Amino acid sequence: MGIDAEYRHMVSPDNEVSVDRDIAAMQAVAVASAAPIVARRVLIVGGGPAGLFAAEHLASLGHAVTLVERMPSVGRKLLMAGRGGLNLTHSEGLKDFLGRYGASAQAIVGAIHGFRPNQLILWAHDLGQQTFVGSSGRVFPKAMKASPLLRAWLQRLAAGHVEIVTGERWLGWDDAGHALFQDEKTHATRTRTADATILALGGASWPRLGSDGSWTDILAARGIARTPWHAANAGVHIAWSPFMREKFAGTPLKRLGVTVGGSQHLGEAMVTRDGLEGGVVYAVGAELRAAMAAGAKPASLSLDLKPGMTVAELTKALARPRGKQSMANHLRKSVGMPPVMVALLHENLGRTLPGEPEVLAQAIKNLPFPVLGFAGLQRAISSAGGIALDEIDARFMLRKLPGVFVAGEMLDWDAPTGGYLLQASFATGKAAALGATAWLASMVHVSPATGEAVVSTAEIASTDSAPSDSSS
Ligand SMILES: Cc1cc2nc3c(=O)[nH]c(=O)nc-3n(C[C@H](O)[C@H](O)[C@H](O)COP(=O)(O)OP(=O)(O)OC[C@H]3O[C@@H](n4cnc5c(N)ncnc54)[C@H](O)[C@@H]3O)c2cc1C
Repeated sequence: MGIDAEYRHMVSPDNEVSVDRDIAAMQAVAVASAAPIVARRVLIVGGGPAGLFAAEHLASLGHAVTLVERMPSVGRKLLMAGRGGLNLTHSEGLKDFLGRYGASAQAIVGAIHGFRPNQLILWAHDLGQQTFVGSSGRVFPKAMKASPLLRAWLQRLAAGHVEIVTGERWLGWDDAGHALFQDEKTHATRTRTADATILALGGASWPRLGSDGSWTDILAARGIARTPWHAANAGVHIAWSPFMREKFAGTPLKRLGVTVGGSQHLGEAMVTRDGLEGGVVYAVGAELRAAMAAGAKPASLSLDLKPGMTVAELTKALARPRGKQSMANHLRKSVGMPPVMVALLHENLGRTLPGEPEVLAQAIKNLPFPVLGFAGLQRAISSAGGIALDEIDARFMLRKLPGVFVAGEMLDWDAPTGGYLLQASFATGKAAALGATAWLASMVHVSPATGEAVVSTAEIASTDSAPSDSSS
């Protein structure tokens, strides 16, 4: 399939950036130039986008892949992301795109060079899921949900002979170095062996979908450093009145401006029982945290209920004769304000709204609410924290556990909403798969006697701290 014209700009040289490409290049060279790929057994733990994508790559390279997931089915967080339309990636230029991962994420940048936004889009097309670019530049499948994509993906994995085992929780490794699993229903334990292992266990947000971060103790016991979790892309708590909570929780706020400190962010949000959530709220998260850390507790955010109109335009519209209309009707008819926004005005200004058009217009443009705190990990879109990036090498292999690779949100990177989370999860899944392939290939040499590829078991055995290198 060719690259669709609408995405061509994303791969044009103008949008290229000069960043360190060592990782992607190294992996490509390793895979291309290594001794013949000898089919090996690879164990993947975690059936989210990162694990599933690693499985797809490994199977396509001829490896025997088993993926184990603790939940009764794979891809639960992906399906949940689909409820919001499944923002797969973003159409902005690559330089801006990579900038969203912050300064600490060189490894992530390298992985995304190995699997770029346009490639994710084409991958979705290849699975029969056409995409479109929303007005914000975000990329969604036309179906606006994840289930058709996941269904097609699982069919592809089945055709590639990927074995998917569900309902088994990874517990770590036994004394012999075999991966240890527990059946979630019967609690019976069993071990699995493999030539390499990829852990793609996710972060710690929305734990009821499967990623509960419980793996952190297992890796900590092996000396792997991690940054503590905290909720990222999380809603904020605001002390609503009982009326606001009961009547408007779950109501969307379209075209909202939110300001914390200096710059205004535009987007959508939703009223929750405890405050506000949604893209434009997540966008001010870092500024709010900074304000709180600086001692401004509670910090506040200011809502602009009509970001498309100036105070002067609002004043003019509101000055139209109101007659016998209620204020809510007047606001609806004169400036198109929905009931939820009228309720927000009452939350801030009290029962009686100012009759003076300019005063009301000023309030509509600048409606401050104190923020009591952030929604916790239970409801955050993503979690910041996880395995410290200096624990992995360029192949996404844990330096202290040769043969064990990591991918996805379990690594310590963070990004805003906008498709950046899924893109990095896919890209690191591919990077870990290629890294594992390169590592496995480095264990293979061609016998001068027979000309055949031979697995250098001595070399594997010499990595005696490798928990997953036992081949049964
Ligand atoms: C409500 C919501 C909406 C979102 N919307 C978007 C969006 O539109 N765009 C976007 O880019 N991102 C979105 N995200 C974020 C995105 O879904 C995640 O970043 C992505 O799923 C992370 O992929 P992952 O494979 O690393 O981890 P996960 O998807 O969390 O998968 C990890 C898997 O590992 C399994 N697992 C964990 N521990 C064990 C264990 N011990 N044994 C066996 N299995 C285990 C889990 O059950 C889970 O299935 C959203 C997230 C949420 C919660």
